[in-house]
Amino acid sequence: MDSVIGGSDLPPLMSDVVCPFCAMACDDLTVARDQLGQLRVTANGCARARTLFALPTLPAHCFIKGRAVPLDAALDAAAVLLRNAASPAIGGLAADTEGISAALALAERLHAVVDHAASDSLFHGLRALQVTGAMTATFGELRNRADLFVLFGTEFERHAPRLFDRIVHPPSALFRDAGAARGFLIGPGDGPAPEGFERLAADLIHAPAIAAALSQLVSGERPRGDRVGGIAMEDLARVAAALREARFGVVGWIAATLDPAAGDIAIEAFNRLVVTANAATRCAGFPLGGKGNALGANYVCAWQYGVPLRSRLGAGPPEHDPLRYRLKSLLAGGEVDALVWLSALNGAEVPDTRTPMIVLARPGQPLPYDPDVLIPVAIPGLDHAGSIHRADGVAALPLRRLRSAPSSPAPSSHATTLPTAAAVLTALLDRLPSSPLPALVRETAHV
Ligand code: SF4
Repeated sequence: MDSVIGGSDLPPLMSDVVCPFCAMACDDLTVARDQLGQLRVTANGCARARTLFALPTLPAHCFIKGRAVPLDAALDAAAVLLRNAASPAIGGLAADTEGISAALALAERLHAVVDHAASDSLFHGLRALQVTGAMTATFGELRNRADLFVLFGTEFERHAPRLFDRIVHPPSALFRDAGAARGFLIGPGDGPAPEGFERLAADLIHAPAIAAALSQLVSGERPRGDRVGGIAMEDLARVAAALREARFGVVGWIAATLDPAAGDIAIEAFNRLVVTANAATRCAGFPLGGKGNALGANYVCAWQYGVPLRSRLGAGPPEHDPLRYRLKSLLAGGEVDALVWLSALNGAEVPDTRTPMIVLARPGQPLPYDPDVLIPVAIPGLDHAGSIHRADGVAALPLRRLRSAPSSPAPSSHATTLPTAAAVLTALLDRLPSSPLPALVRETAHV
């Protein structure tokens, strides 16, 4: 993989491009590139893809507290900050596989906690998986076979922008009539439902009760009462009948829109509903949403260290604790004294914290204030090759480099072509001692 974006000839029009900007990882985009490296999605992208692919390629400056500096000076300042930290953490982790791997290697050197910006949703699913197990399907199976979708959540177009184009109503399907899938949207919202869908308005705080009632109805029992979570029992009975009669039903959810305090309970209820429906027909769970390659970050951590995210690396065996090492809680409690924040993709908003912070950010990343050190990095899938994981968890999709850097900046400028996140993190690692003592101080960190 390129470590620094280089200039080589690329075709002006590229097809079957993978989009890295949400966990749907659509792989059918057509992207045009002009001679200045400006990209434009010409087919199949959603509005988000069109906006983010059009971000300009640019030589960018590094900054120390808002003052422009060369990359080496920024790296030196970042290394000093990390060398003096007793309780460092690495968060965000919105990057391609190689960027995440480099971040975890840095965490290991620092004895740091690692967590992803979107890990609350991720851990709702993982906790439910531990309790109930899960029966899911690939995007391909759903697109080619599913004829009924029961979807819990809201703002589907924001969390999974091409859900209906790509999976529910694709232009073609192998084993079903492509346009005929029908379904129900359960959650807040009063806009028109997509064709073939019916909206059942409910507060998602009631999602566990609604899913449990559906399980009862699917198995032939009649729950007590006339309504559950504000939905009339007759309406729920229609949903249950549709699930029983479907050839291939789907129960899907946007984890980020569930009750933040009990998303795992809701997903347990969805998983149980899927199992119940499978007694009569075929049914699959469908976790939706996800951003910043959160699933990929968790996979890389598991492959390399044997533990999920929300772990502390390098201080003896990797130590996982989903409550103690939740980065948002650590930051809120003032328990981190140096934070590396990685945001090479979208979906990892830089936290508004006074914790000393080194930010590796893609161009266009909003910043709440000037961090101690800011190093702009290239965007995987636009500026360099790599891979990300799709929400169904079965495929790591290859990202391509689609553009070259602009011509070299003026010698007097501090601006530089954008390095990859992995290259920056590796350069930072090289500036740190191989044994990050004082160990005694670090042994008590985060307690
Ligand atoms: S739905 Fe997601 S992956 Fe697909 S084009 Fe839009 S942002 Fe990209």
